[in-house]
Amino acid sequence: LTIPISLVFSLLCLYIVNLVKTLHRSLGYQLKVAVKRGELIAYYQPIIDAQTGYVVGAEALVRWIKPDGSVEPPGRFIQVLEESDLINDVTLQLLKNIPIDLAEVLEQSPQFRCSINLVPQHLESPCFAKQLLELKGKGFPCDQLAIEITERLPLKNLSQAKMNVEKMKALGICIELDDAGTGYGGASYLQELNIDVMKIDKLFVDTLIISPDRTQVLDANIQMAKSLGMQIIAEGVETSFQSEALVEKGVRFQQGYLFAKPLSTAEFIAFWHESHQAYIQQYANTDMPN
Ligand code: C2E
Ligand code: MG
Ligand code: MG
Ligand code: MG
Repeated sequence: LTIPISLVFSLLCLYIVNLVKTLHRSLGYQLKVAVKRGELIAYYQPIIDAQTGYVVGAEALVRWIKPDGSVEPPGRFIQVLEESDLINDVTLQLLKNIPIDLAEVLEQSPQFRCSINLVPQHLESPCFAKQLLELKGKGFPCDQLAIEITERLPLKNLSQAKMNVEKMKALGICIELDDAGTGYGGASYLQELNIDVMKIDKLFVDTLIISPDRTQVLDANIQMAKSLGMQIIAEGVETSFQSEALVEKGVRFQQGYLFAKPLSTAEFIAFWHESHQAYIQQYANTDMPN
């Protein structure tokens, strides 16, 4: 008796697909419980003005604090959240915690902005913009909030997204394009969604050290952002060489392990204090730069 090899292969594939589905389902269940228990919280990664060393903002990045105290970054679970309604609860929770976690910073540093990552469903339905409006009514500092729209995931309904983005902008929220240059939207997002800030992906920042003679895409992205009058934040800056090269290209706002990894609230506040003190001393006798 011989079994055709294609049949064996098909069965094997089916088995693997089912296995992955089962695993996902159980992770989905674990996450649902974790969200209820409040185990998903934000860590904050500083965004630095590399010219002055001042902390100009932060990005809220979700972390799963397990009952045993271990901290899990989103790599393993973000896709499961994104593919379910859970992402709505998590995002809203993170959002509500920003003014609590960062109260002191937001109050003492009016220019400071904290950004939060969104998924397409937040932009394609009117719910999220409505929630923001309600939060603003309760005193949420929308003018110190930025939303990050990723190019990694496709927007199915660009015109809906555009309407919602306009509503958010009207609340004073800053609109950022995340993972710029890596995915779907590209130039059309930039134009249609009236983006304020381009976040240049680590992929392009890496070219500065991996292949310094091939930084054309990085340069083109910087050029495009500048000609559209947008601000730029470089992500994934790991070395002072990269940081200096970026400043030379006119990109002073930077985020990356060179400055700090994503930090717990307490760590972030301490980091900010240190930078704030140094800044106050440095400019004690002169006008502070903007
Ligand atoms: P992202 O929004 O592009 O965030 C930047 C990621 O790069 C973060 O990973 C950060 O820790 C990492 N990173 C920052 N600087 C460096 C560096 O110098 N070197 C290296 N190697 N990595 C650096 P993280 O926190 O693991 O998040 C991964 C992705 O998960 C995020 O990418 C974002 O797409 C998604 N994500 C994280 N939090 C949330 C959230 O609350 N909601 C949604 N929808 N997505 C989130
Ligand atoms: Mg981001
Ligand atoms: Mg990013
Ligand atoms: Mg990214």
